[in-house]
Amino acid sequence: MSRALNAENVLEAGGRLAAEAARFTSFGWMRGTSGNLSEVVTREPLRLAVTASGLDKGELAASDVAVVGPDGEPVEVGGIEPLVPSAEAGLHARVAALTGADAVVHVHALNAVVAGHHWPRGVLLRDVETLKGIGRLAHDDEVVIPVIANSQDMRELGDRFEAAYDPRTPAVIVADHGLYAWGPNLKRARHITECVEWLLAYKIATR
Ligand SMILES: [Zn+2]
Repeated sequence: MSRALNAENVLEAGGRLAAEAARFTSFGWMRGTSGNLSEVVTREPLRLAVTASGLDKGELAASDVAVVGPDGEPVEVGGIEPLVPSAEAGLHARVAALTGADAVVHVHALNAVVAGHHWPRGVLLRDVETLKGIGRLAHDDEVVIPVIANSQDMRELGDRFEAAYDPRTPAVIVADHGLYAWGPNLKRARHITECVEWLLAYKIATR
């Protein structure tokens, strides 16, 4: 995606992020003020619109958005009130940079945390129709959702993500924490998040 980095485009992204956040909150995946969503506004230099920190994700307005650079550091944009980005914005930027995704979803979905607990070396999935929803095959395709250890240091977490990343699999579980999923746009990232969560629920239910 390459739009100009201006207030209009950031607020438009903020509106889309707020709508997605309300949807995920309704599923119980963004309890309290947890989780965050982002969209790439520009690639060169990398700038992301990300949901602001500390807010109820079911009640966001379009203006509840922060802008960050490649290390998750806040970037000022004229006409936008500078809000504090989540500390996790640094991992969003890392995911967007490495995968080329223009939208990143991070939710504290319970099934992701439970699956990470049961399969700390990765969650193996195969022969399930819903795998098609994340761009894989419904038969004879071994899919591993990587699991990485949690950290409060986004650089360390980013390094773990990079080491575990498989370009065929658009999601990663952060152990004892939650799920990251990504796609070329927010709607696709939503579909991937929902399919991965379902696959993890299925895996847990059939263990
Ligand atoms: Zn989190």
